[in-house]
Amino acid sequence: MEFFDPHIHIASRTTDDLATMAMMGCRVVGEPAFWMGYDRSGANSFYDYFRQLTEWEPKRCAPYGLRHYCWLGINAKEAENVAFAREVIALLPEFLSRPNVLGIGEIGLHKCTRNEVATLQALIDLAMQHQQQMLFHTPHLEDKYKGTRMILDLLRADRRVSPARVCIDHCEEHTIRLALDEGYWAGITLYPTTKATPQRAVDMVEMYGPERILVNSSADWGPSDPTAVAKFMLAMRQRKHSDALIRRIVYDNPRQFCGQSANYREP
Ligand SMILES: [Zn+2]
Repeated sequence: MEFFDPHIHIASRTTDDLATMAMMGCRVVGEPAFWMGYDRSGANSFYDYFRQLTEWEPKRCAPYGLRHYCWLGINAKEAENVAFAREVIALLPEFLSRPNVLGIGEIGLHKCTRNEVATLQALIDLAMQHQQQMLFHTPHLEDKYKGTRMILDLLRADRRVSPARVCIDHCEEHTIRLALDEGYWAGITLYPTTKATPQRAVDMVEMYGPERILVNSSADWGPSDPTAVAKFMLAMRQRKHSDALIRRIVYDNPRQFCGQSANYREP
């Protein structure tokens, strides 16, 4: 069965990973801009990264039949220095019309500080000025509930935001309902150390239904699994869910969500 991985950091993966994903049925990948594991030394480093996500990674994916899309922004881990973040945000408009850009992401909160919120407000503003979709990273573990609540409150206070064009990602059992109840898309990340497992993702689908749910690997430069979406599909089958339901979550849903971006083209 064909599927999307709507959140994966392709820049950190090898061509072996791309081949494996393609053989398992992956056809489309979405790559949000991310922290590299170390803080970048200047805005130029982001400029080059945005070029990598819009020029080089689509070329690396193409031989495997993987269509590559990306989301651009500055992540919460590098958002604490507001002046620096503003320099990076100023680079974004020239990239937004590039053919594989779906919107602004992954943006959000990490430690939920005042400075992170200031940067996030500037990013939301930019997205609204340019009619962009948004993809939100929510914090880890003990900060997740508070950070998710803060992001949803910020969004709710902004009348320009259409929830149907926003994904709240890395949802877990204690946050997924917050996102779904307010009309947002909810991303479930399958990750070996934190976030969710394929089995827990199936539990959440059984509890809340398939509507507006996206499943992704968020595979990056750390311990993570680029085959996680395929493992979720297997876990669904093992619980006797229909192919139609599985396809809805791993193919139809991401297609519907991403399809709201001006640059999206059918695979
Ligand atoms: Zn990510």
